[in-house]
Amino acid sequence: MTSAQLYLDGVHVSFDGFHAINNLSMVLAPGEMRAIIGPNGAGKTTMMDIITGKTKPDEGDVYFDGRHDLTLLDETEIAKLGIGRKFQKPTVFESQTIQDNLLLALNVDHSVRGTLFWRGSRNEAERIDRVLETIRLTDARDRLAGNLSHGQKQWLEIGMLLAQDPKVLLVDEPVAGMTDVETHQTAELLKAINRDNKTVMVVEHDMTFVRELGVKVTCLHEGTVLAEGTIDDVSTNERVVEVYLGR
Ligand code: ADP
Repeated sequence: MTSAQLYLDGVHVSFDGFHAINNLSMVLAPGEMRAIIGPNGAGKTTMMDIITGKTKPDEGDVYFDGRHDLTLLDETEIAKLGIGRKFQKPTVFESQTIQDNLLLALNVDHSVRGTLFWRGSRNEAERIDRVLETIRLTDARDRLAGNLSHGQKQWLEIGMLLAQDPKVLLVDEPVAGMTDVETHQTAELLKAINRDNKTVMVVEHDMTFVRELGVKVTCLHEGTVLAEGTIDDVSTNERVVEVYLGR
């Protein structure tokens, strides 16, 4: 078995006979950041659902760290292995401070889905300080999350993932609705997280952002890989251009 961090091979998923994922294969190396693009309906969300165990493939292999067969595990077990996911819409606790949001995230016990458990506060302050620094909200730590800008909420939610110290972060359209400055800062944030040895998979439509990430790009279409390479390779690929222009 490969030592890939994430390994998908020949994956198929169909919903009532419709092939949402159709012979999808992809390898993410440990510590890699990968951008996933593709038109609506390409299968990007379903791919993330497969990795996190929300959707089970009909066929194919999905391995983590070369040894964990994710198709045999449920969502809680997969989260415990260190695969964290951020959905497109930020979901922070608006009436809590930034710091308390991070504290809550840090204390999530994956063994009881949807329930938060407190497990004392050893070493927590230090970890939270590090996360606050990474998401550049140190000075705002005592502000209520509900008072943050849309961009800051997204960063806080990324911070909530980081508080759980995942090996892999799956991030869905982080810059949707952000200003140009926030978009740039989000690219810097993800690059910093990736430099810190986290594997990152980011789905995004914003090509300026994807270009700024400067990482390998995979374009999905009809549930499979249409093209893979640098943003220049992929964005000039004839098949990709056709798909985006709808021809
Ligand atoms: P993307 O995230 O790239 O826009 P999705 O993964 O959401 O694409 O969807 C891929 C295809 O699968 C779409 O055609 C979508 O309508 C279909 N699909 C996704 N989830 C379901 C579901 N639960 N039931 C039926 N069809 C679905």
